[in-house]
Amino acid sequence: MLYHNIAVEAYAPREPKMPGPLCAFTVDVEDWYQSSVDFDAPISDRVLRNCNRLLALLDDCGVKGTFFVQGLVAEAFPALVRTFLQHGHEVQSHGHSHRPLFAMSRAELRRELDYARKTVEDAGGVKVTMFRAQDFSIRRENLWALELVAAAGFEIDSSIFPMRTKRYGIAGWPAGPSQGRLRNGAVLLEVPVAVTRYGALWLPVAGGGYFRLLPQALLGWALASITAAGRPAIVYCHPYEIAPQETDDFKGRVSPMFLRSQRLGRRHFAPRMKHLFKMLPFGRMDSVLANWRFL
Ligand SMILES: [Zn+2]
Repeated sequence: MLYHNIAVEAYAPREPKMPGPLCAFTVDVEDWYQSSVDFDAPISDRVLRNCNRLLALLDDCGVKGTFFVQGLVAEAFPALVRTFLQHGHEVQSHGHSHRPLFAMSRAELRRELDYARKTVEDAGGVKVTMFRAQDFSIRRENLWALELVAAAGFEIDSSIFPMRTKRYGIAGWPAGPSQGRLRNGAVLLEVPVAVTRYGALWLPVAGGGYFRLLPQALLGWALASITAAGRPAIVYCHPYEIAPQETDDFKGRVSPMFLRSQRLGRRHFAPRMKHLFKMLPFGRMDSVLANWRFL
């Protein structure tokens, strides 16, 4: 398939090595008010409190995951990046500013990606090779961004939502891993988050509202059906999803309707993760991709 001069080749379904993790648990590490309301706001220590709660949940369940850390968070709290590593988790990049990539010029995007990689590498002292764009903001019109993602030193990308939704996504994009060969000959392994077919519909089951609100049994079934179809299931969440009360801090500063929609289902998040961790083998992106023979 050719998308704007990018040759995208979906990998065929495959057999994973057994036993081993089949589903990746990933976290986009950001602070809700800065990433969702005001890009100029400072990063608050809410992100620390929420990440600590998330780390305790993962430790309790004996699960390792991948933390895609926003550059501004790594700059504000570099010790947090080292804490993820000390707990045995993987650390990768979730952009720098959280401004949408589709609104950036080539020069702005080059700078964004350089900061994104360098801030996390400096804080953690490890090499960063995977990128997930803020709000899946690589869409059809800015697929050229992938050339700059590869040029910035990333080898794996998880920025394209593989169905069209109101705010992001590309209809028809492969639901499983694919190889993107770029105009300049560079190659990226594209690993989209989980979507599944339900009758004639595609359902986004990787994270966000659907993840928190779908009946638990249906969610478990959806993720298991993805692995049964021969591809890894990648889920994502944010530190603030573990904190149902946090939205109270913003009463009067943010519209009540927006706050209500943001709070929806947050109280189900932790019990739901515990249930899924018991039901399915979860792990870090790198070990999940190795287990499915992509690395
Ligand atoms: Zn984000």
